[in-house]
Amino acid sequence: MQTHFTVEQLKDPALARANAILRACVHCGLCTATCPTFQVLGDELDSPRGRIYLIKDMLEGGRDADEKTVMHLDRCLSCLSCMTTCPSGVNYMHLIDLARAHVEKTYRRPLRDRLLREALATILPSPARFRLALFAARLARPFAALVPDRRLRAMLSLVPTAKLGSGQGLCAGIYPACGTRRMRIALLPGCVQQVLAPHIDEAAVRLLQRFGVEVVIPKGAGCCGALVHHLGKTASAQPQAAAVIKALIAEKRAGGLDAVTITASGCGTVVKDYGHLFAQDPALAEQAKEVAGLAKDISEILAGLALKGAAPEPLRVAYHAACSLQHGQKLRDMPKKLLAGVGFTVVEPKNAHLCCGSAGTYALLQPEISEELKQRKVAALHAIKPDLIATGNIGCLTQIGSATNVPIVHSVELLDWATGGPKPYALRTLGGRNPVAERTA
Ligand code: SF4
Ligand code: SF4
Repeated sequence: MQTHFTVEQLKDPALARANAILRACVHCGLCTATCPTFQVLGDELDSPRGRIYLIKDMLEGGRDADEKTVMHLDRCLSCLSCMTTCPSGVNYMHLIDLARAHVEKTYRRPLRDRLLREALATILPSPARFRLALFAARLARPFAALVPDRRLRAMLSLVPTAKLGSGQGLCAGIYPACGTRRMRIALLPGCVQQVLAPHIDEAAVRLLQRFGVEVVIPKGAGCCGALVHHLGKTASAQPQAAAVIKALIAEKRAGGLDAVTITASGCGTVVKDYGHLFAQDPALAEQAKEVAGLAKDISEILAGLALKGAAPEPLRVAYHAACSLQHGQKLRDMPKKLLAGVGFTVVEPKNAHLCCGSAGTYALLQPEISEELKQRKVAALHAIKPDLIATGNIGCLTQIGSATNVPIVHSVELLDWATGGPKPYALRTLGGRNPVAERTA
């Protein structure tokens, strides 16, 4: 694609980066075929190619974001399905990040939008604030129909009615390897997941310890910054990410680290991209690159440990590939192989490349599109008649779990169970239901 940035504009590193990305696009339109928002809305401006043109026009013209551009950019899930499809290697992820940062700087949203986005950016990254908000939301949930704002109604509908899991969450500290230590890794506890489903990281730590990994949960490593980063709030995301980087570097210098892992793949994708996030920061650029180089999804770590185990029950597991894992980190088959390797029957729904509509805060900010994608995903999952659903991201787990009575778990819970850990919480709380009997009846 031809671009016409001026020499003066290209002195700005952000615009220089945007220019390089835009020039890689040959506007072939192949990406439109796999874009969930184009499939739902059918408007070229809600496709990757359409958004690329809008971004080019906005940045090249040096103009403030306008209402129409913001609407189409806001509707993008950042699912990155377009990046998997694109034959020209267009880095849409960095382009939409740059565009969102420009929108945040130059566009004044209506007051209600600003308040809502500010509330999300303040509450979600803090487990203490999120816990309080969740408590209040559970009280308000029966009155959801009376709430005038559709996005607030959507938030209430996503609040789990029951506890999603057991466990108290893990404290910062060292969790020693069982037997001979093979690796030492840091596990990032994140933010939302430790409140909604603390049992996921508990399962991950047990599993890692069992196979000879010493796990450290570093002090001072809170939210990785992903949630606010996707809201375009780079200025808020960077201090959160910087705290994580400092905590990890301190841990690496003190005790050594072979890897850094996180069980929420949406967060993992951002941590792997820290090098880019801090590329213009002379104080942190090198350390950010170092941390990004250590980052691995939990499935990558487990694949290297040659897990030995056996599925305790003959369950048919529908694997839902989180976009952040399959498109963001290009880890499409590894989690499936791990589950099949310990004896589960793994099946996949049709159109597995399409997003479930969760996408960070998307389900809260774009409830109609999100709901449509959720219903399509759940229908595709039900069609393959699974005993349970497994995924690798807390967002997908919450989103899909709100629309199905098929139990849904994180893949590490199944791997933990198959190698000597407890039965996953979602299977322990079925109230006498037996998914295998239900499927085969
Ligand atoms: S597939 Fe790639 S090159 Fe083709 S229009 Fe989409 S982003 Fe551009
Ligand atoms: S990130 Fe997803 S929703 Fe956004 S343009 Fe690409 S495919 Fe479409």
